[in-house]
Amino acid sequence: MALEQNQLHFLVIPMAAPGHYIPTIDLAKLLAQHGVRVTMVTTPVNALRFGSILDQEIQSGLPICFLEFPFSYKEFGLPEGCESVDDLPNMEMTRALMQAYSSLQTKVEQYIENLVPRPNCILADTFLLWPGETAKKFKIPRIIFDGMNCFTQMCNHVLHVSKVYESVGESDSESFVLPGLPDCIELKRTQLPFSFDPRLKGISDFNEKLRVSESKAYGVVVNSFEELEQKYVDEYQKVKGDNVWCIGPLSLCHKYESEKFQRGNKSSVGKNDCLKWLDSQENGSVIYACLGSVSRVEPTQLIELALALESSKRPFIWVVRAGHKTENIEKWIEEQEFEKRTKDRALLIHGWAPQLLVLSHPAIGGFLTHCGWNSTLEGVCAGVPMVTWPQFQEQFYNEKLVVQVLRTGVSVGAQKTSAFWLVEDESGELVRSDAFHNAIEMVMEEGKEGEDRRKRAKELRKMANKAIEEGGSSHRNMTRLIEAIKNQERTMKLS
Ligand code: UDP
Repeated sequence: MALEQNQLHFLVIPMAAPGHYIPTIDLAKLLAQHGVRVTMVTTPVNALRFGSILDQEIQSGLPICFLEFPFSYKEFGLPEGCESVDDLPNMEMTRALMQAYSSLQTKVEQYIENLVPRPNCILADTFLLWPGETAKKFKIPRIIFDGMNCFTQMCNHVLHVSKVYESVGESDSESFVLPGLPDCIELKRTQLPFSFDPRLKGISDFNEKLRVSESKAYGVVVNSFEELEQKYVDEYQKVKGDNVWCIGPLSLCHKYESEKFQRGNKSSVGKNDCLKWLDSQENGSVIYACLGSVSRVEPTQLIELALALESSKRPFIWVVRAGHKTENIEKWIEEQEFEKRTKDRALLIHGWAPQLLVLSHPAIGGFLTHCGWNSTLEGVCAGVPMVTWPQFQEQFYNEKLVVQVLRTGVSVGAQKTSAFWLVEDESGELVRSDAFHNAIEMVMEEGKEGEDRRKRAKELRKMANKAIEEGGSSHRNMTRLIEAIKNQERTMKLS
């Protein structure tokens, strides 16, 4: 595709996990819709898996191209075809995957070296360090794509600055207030991201490097919208300066059923079967339970969830996945005839669910989520209340945002981050089926509290849609971001 004169060119570098790759593809689409030419760095399997959603639009002229590099599986001890965190046979291989991705640096730099003119901007995932070096080497402005929200950024910031978690002594059960936030947010040490765990020095060192790298970037793009968390956007801008652009919700860039169905992976359920099942349910009656792409919940724990869904006596969709222990939970389902005994009102999806398609159907009345940011925001866009069951990392912050700040969710009461990332976690807490049952009841109940929660959720959906329309805050921020890069380009030419 020929470069139009004066058309900006962004080199986009995603991270190899669905929760990062999926919104980065959406972001590429949005940039291209705003007239930016996008080149996306990718590898063979990820290009097919995540990129094919854009095939049709690219054929119709959307200015995106994929810069595909071969992936060195063997060299890094990865199974053939394994290019994403959720494909890893075990989480210990995460480091090898990251190293394999880092090896792309040389190839990307060769590409830039030979390119005239150079890209105007490198937009890279927040978890990647090397694009910072590349941007510096070629004097190209770098923007970080932060897969989280301003609320999370501020929680991390105040914890980092105050170190308040250190003063709770040895007590893991004691709650403390995160100082200086617009709301009174309380957490326990066991609910904090791994980077605040003194036993995990490797992770906190890596995070420190990320923090330094981020501070050198030209700006940050956030998948959120101002109206959702205005006070936290303001606070974050005080910390980071003006170059914070909330341009989300990114998932709303997909309008058609076919795109929603295709997003992220090959679905384990047929589009028509899924829609037929949803169409047969009453509006607002179905609970959709999905725990994201990388959570590895123990089968004993999943059984508690399954029993609560069953005892709710409501229609439900359960996305069944337990990493390398999926076989065990599937065995339980079969032995207990769980699918058979709930078949009149349940749809079990064994593998990847077409989440956007499901969530945008009017039959959905509640979303039981692990509080990954993409899922949480997709829940906001669906306008449904949520049952929150955070697992690890910033998911406990997202729960606070949903339950306490937005008041559209009910917590199951998880107290402890799951350490599956680091070790086999059989010592973790067990959330009992009663806790799920009660939270589901609260979210789905027809009384005033439930009704008010639903009303607020619908209001947020409206606000989200408005934000991305022309004249909306996210639309404006996208224009501001593009203008900022153009200005940067002019300044560099003059200097
Ligand atoms: N997702 C999906 N189907 C699944 C599981 C996940 O479409 O069966 C998508 C989901 O819509 C979201 C992303 O994968 O966009 C998961 O990102 P999130 O931040 O919610 O959680 P993570 O997987 O990173 O923990």
